[in-house]
Amino acid sequence: MTDQTPSAPITQDVLTIPRKLPQTGRTNIVGLTRPQLHEALIAAGTPERQARMRVGQVWQWVYHWGVRDFAAMTNLAKDYRALLAEHFEIVLPELVTRQISRDGTRKYLVRIAGGHEVEVVYIPEEGRGTLCISSQVGCTLTCSFCHTGTQKLVRNLTPAEIVGQVMLARDDLGEWPVQGAPKDETRLVSNIVLMGMGEPLYNFENVRDAMKVVMDGEGLSLSRRRITLSTSGVVPEIARTAQEIGCLLAVSFHATTDEVRDRLVPINRRWNIATLLEALRDYPRLSNSERITFEYVMLDGVNDSDADARRLVKLIQGIPAKINLIPFNEWPGAPYRRSSPERIRAFADIIYKAGYASPIRTPRGEDIMAACGQLKSATERGRKTRAQIEAEAS
Ligand code: SF4
Repeated sequence: MTDQTPSAPITQDVLTIPRKLPQTGRTNIVGLTRPQLHEALIAAGTPERQARMRVGQVWQWVYHWGVRDFAAMTNLAKDYRALLAEHFEIVLPELVTRQISRDGTRKYLVRIAGGHEVEVVYIPEEGRGTLCISSQVGCTLTCSFCHTGTQKLVRNLTPAEIVGQVMLARDDLGEWPVQGAPKDETRLVSNIVLMGMGEPLYNFENVRDAMKVVMDGEGLSLSRRRITLSTSGVVPEIARTAQEIGCLLAVSFHATTDEVRDRLVPINRRWNIATLLEALRDYPRLSNSERITFEYVMLDGVNDSDADARRLVKLIQGIPAKINLIPFNEWPGAPYRRSSPERIRAFADIIYKAGYASPIRTPRGEDIMAACGQLKSATERGRKTRAQIEAEAS
């Protein structure tokens, strides 16, 4: 493995927009599920018998063509477009900065209601492009290897703020189809991972509704098998993920004893390894074609011994799984160091010989602090009360 010391990125586009968000009193269409949009259109004066058709039309304009102006929705009558513009808006989070790493990884800092900021990362690879999106400002949890874990939870993201991250990335990549142009099946954002800032299962309903919008075949149309939700182990919500979202599941596992996992992933004190594995064995969508991904960060001298590797294989026996080995990505003040390349390879060999795929994740975007576990925004909860923060989001 080459010297990983980050150096100044080759290109850095910084665009700062210090602007307070306007309160319009109009409903943001982004993030509404189909039933919610149906209800809102009727409440705004759409005749009930037309509502289903209108939902389909508006949905296509917003999520297939990426249109943000009702006036441009040309298959709708002018007076109906005026009605939409009076009652609704199409608002995404604001792009504050965009950084591009020397390896092509892009990191976006975006601003949401209340002026809070979250990070989103786009990772281009051969034949696919993965968008790593956030579900909370800061995090409910405090995993000790994770930079986000040092940022107190400010609030959950709304469905609009989650879906908005996908739309914003498509804007930046110029991925919206152009009317009249030949159909282009290439997807630059081909995969989504809920592995950014926050624990998605502590924001279940908003994440579920947002993924329903993203998976809808008439709009953004990302298949459920192209979406992976990563949890640190919120056991009561795991089965619901299969039943109500249906995406692939990843688990921030990172240790093979409760003693070590209590330190690395403190939620383990609530639902320990045995309880978590039981929930995974009962995962409703478990199959060889839909394996659970066990994420395992490689920390020097902490969880990377041969004994750990053997224990890991034993613990997950009988679960269709793959193990993603993540060389630790350092961040300022981090209490750990990355395992050596030789140690990581030896660990991977033991797992591989036991019959599990054990890819070693190539760190991406390290030079712009976009690698796994490096995300953190400057937003702190400050003196605002919980009520004030929640009011800003509604
Ligand atoms: S690993 Fe995930 S759950 Fe843990 S602190 Fe980081 S963002 Fe939160």
